[in-house]
Amino acid sequence: MNIKITKTSAPKPIPTDDSTLGFGRVFSDHMFLMDYKEGEGWYEPRIVPFDNIALSPAAMVLHYSQTIFEGLKAYRTSAGDIQLFRPRENFKRMNLSASRLVIPEIPEDLVLEGLKELIKLDKDWVPHSDGASLYIRPFVFAADPFVGVRPGEEYMFIIITSPSGPYYATGLNPVGIYVEENFVRAVKGGPGYTKTGGNYAASLAGQVEAHTQGFAQVLWLDGIERKYIEEVGAMNIFFVLGDEIVTPALQGSILEGITRKSVIELCRKWGMKVTERRISIDEITDAYKSGLLKEVFGTGTAAVISPVGLLKRGAMSMEINNNEIGEVSKRLYDALTGIQYGKLTDDMGWIMPIDEGV
Ligand SMILES: *Cc1c(COP(=O)(O)O)cnc(C)c1O
Repeated sequence: MNIKITKTSAPKPIPTDDSTLGFGRVFSDHMFLMDYKEGEGWYEPRIVPFDNIALSPAAMVLHYSQTIFEGLKAYRTSAGDIQLFRPRENFKRMNLSASRLVIPEIPEDLVLEGLKELIKLDKDWVPHSDGASLYIRPFVFAADPFVGVRPGEEYMFIIITSPSGPYYATGLNPVGIYVEENFVRAVKGGPGYTKTGGNYAASLAGQVEAHTQGFAQVLWLDGIERKYIEEVGAMNIFFVLGDEIVTPALQGSILEGITRKSVIELCRKWGMKVTERRISIDEITDAYKSGLLKEVFGTGTAAVISPVGLLKRGAMSMEINNNEIGEVSKRLYDALTGIQYGKLTDDMGWIMPIDEGV
């Protein structure tokens, strides 16, 4: 399928001060779109100027949330080149989400091609400063004007991009999180393993409460026994227990992060012991008391590695590693960002360069 490109006739000024970008507020000049109709499949892949879209107030997504999304970044190397980090993994995961939400399969090669074309066209929107990046947001939603509960027959797939400032403006600072004992995020059998809007809507009450209490995020426990650790906010979580690195096993309610997967692969390459298994909050509390708990960190595309310096469970406050970044967290952060920004050789085969010359 041919991707039709319509360039904007009114380019916006490109922000020059990356430190004022923040996250997710500024959008580049163009977007990629395609439509789907039952019987016809995906059609009319195109790149057009970034603009509002027309949608019926009866559009199904607005009523029943049949929608999925992804999040990845384009990085600028010191040589000025642009590269993506494991983008195929995002589109594979998007199709896993699509399957659970009864959304038609997305042609991975076509959308990856569309993404590359979009970045080439908006290449000047990829920030230059260290730690800044172009955040990429692909998403799909049911667009039919119909107020009834059934899978949509019409969909839109869109990719928008947003230049974003460094996540850690003041260095890799540890955050405080608390164990959420009231709300749950997901249960096995539900859509917890997918990136679908409803999961995030359901997590907001916990997030607001955490912020009210002065914490950055919540640590979610499993929805049935309220005993086993799942993830932190919209990140996966790791614990360093002595010389073993543990992370909750994927069993249907946890999002399978690409950063999580990369961390596991890197640690194993380095000869560290990494275990994916059930981890109870009691085990972590005990490990803290016995001195076995060395480090806690979250993983996700936005922050890469987010060290946890304070973990609160009820009345108990656990200070982790003197509220400082641990050795494993730091090593992982340096290795991952080193590969992403092209400072380190990518011997894992994770980088996909954007050839701007073509
Ligand atoms: C996106 C996300 C993650 C992290 O996934 P990455 O692919 O590493 O960015 C973890 N948990 C939730 C709930 C998420 O939405």
